[in-house]
Amino acid sequence: MPERRVLLCEDEESLILTLRDRLQSEGYDTSVAREGEIALETATKKSFDCILLDISLPKKNGFDVCRDLRQRGVQTPILMLTARGQVIDRVLGLKLGADDYLTKPFEMAELLARIEALLRRARTLVASSADAYAFGNIEVDFRRAEVKKDGAEIELSGLELKLLRYFVEHRSAVLTRDELLEKVWGYDATPVTRTVDVHIASLRQKLETNPARPEFFLTVHGMGYKFVG
Ligand code: CA
Repeated sequence: MPERRVLLCEDEESLILTLRDRLQSEGYDTSVAREGEIALETATKKSFDCILLDISLPKKNGFDVCRDLRQRGVQTPILMLTARGQVIDRVLGLKLGADDYLTKPFEMAELLARIEALLRRARTLVASSADAYAFGNIEVDFRRAEVKKDGAEIELSGLELKLLRYFVEHRSAVLTRDELLEKVWGYDATPVTRTVDVHIASLRQKLETNPARPEFFLTVHGMGYKFVG
């Protein structure tokens, strides 16, 4: 396997030292960006397998970096690093196109597991991207990772695309949060099942005509979700 490249966007020197050492020792070729503007430029010009993005960065914060990267068509998986308990940050980050988030302070093993899961998902997405699907006013081309609503392009994160694909492949079936976490997120026993709800809220926001009264991504009370597109 070619060496995997990680872009670490972080301004806290002690954390940079710890993370870079450990990532390098795990075989990741690790670049560091200490400011948001630099993070954006580096991630646009060079190709990475994964971006670790702190939210509070000087010059340009992590939200803006994430949004600008997606607007520029950079699809690299993004793992956001958030401060403890900032739920609003997580929701906003996922809406802007981040694939996952991790709350500081975190265990190194947890970070490595999340990175592995992101890389695995990215590979699965590429390997299984073969066809297209349309429902309502939405057209999806999984091969090109393009989604259109009324003909206008909609930005979905890699994870949202994978979630959408899983729904399409299992349409009309009731899918529990646990199943979605296992099949789409790919790591077991995560304590944050709410992460499923957050992503489905984001899919509804982007794809439903009226997100408050979804037509396609339905809640099945006490059980989970069902896609009926
Ligand atoms: Ca910071």
